[in-house]
Amino acid sequence: MASDPPILVLATRNAGKLRELSELMAGAAFRLVSLDDVGVEQEVEETGDTFEGNASLKAMTYARLTGLPTLADDSGLEVDALGGEPGIRSSRYAGEDATDADRVAFLLAKLQNESKGPWPARFRCVIAIAWGAEDLEYHSGDCEGVIIDEPRGLSGFGYDPVFLLPGLGMTMAELSTDQKNRISHRSRAAGKAVEALKKRAAESA
Ligand code: IMP
Repeated sequence: MASDPPILVLATRNAGKLRELSELMAGAAFRLVSLDDVGVEQEVEETGDTFEGNASLKAMTYARLTGLPTLADDSGLEVDALGGEPGIRSSRYAGEDATDADRVAFLLAKLQNESKGPWPARFRCVIAIAWGAEDLEYHSGDCEGVIIDEPRGLSGFGYDPVFLLPGLGMTMAELSTDQKNRISHRSRAAGKAVEALKKRAAESA
């Protein structure tokens, strides 16, 4: 008789992120559950100064609290003309209560002060998986593009409307979810994580 797949906690309460990661990691050989599913109420402050630092802080803390292997991610936009900003500050770039539109406007104002566009940039995602106190692994994914000064498209979120994929001639916000999932930083990192999870599952079978 086949046994139940092992559990992997996803360190998020965000229903959209849980759905997206669950879809991207469908072949992982693990059953993905959320922090709410395992009754964890504690919040972890993202005090790291790199994507790796924040992802590992969340993965390690929740793995310790649950006693279960835990996956956490951190992502953001790096713009070369801004020395890699906003980076880990992508969601807080224009202040705590800012909207996506505020963040895009803030980014464009900064860039237009610096130089003429388009401005080379990348989305970056780091996934950390904590298997226990001493056992932590990272998987990262990048998606290269340029920032343009006229937002285009209505899908996606965050900086998608000003992130142009030169090879496609479209912004991230002009792609369907399926198209975005084929090329995004998150799907690239998740793809590597899935391969690592399959290996772990095979080793412990
Ligand atoms: P977090 O990984 O959920 O903390 O996301 C950090 C921030 O980076 C988001 O709030 C967005 O501003 C930005 N970001 C991350 N991934 C994307 C993306 O796929 N499109 C647009 N913005 C993104």
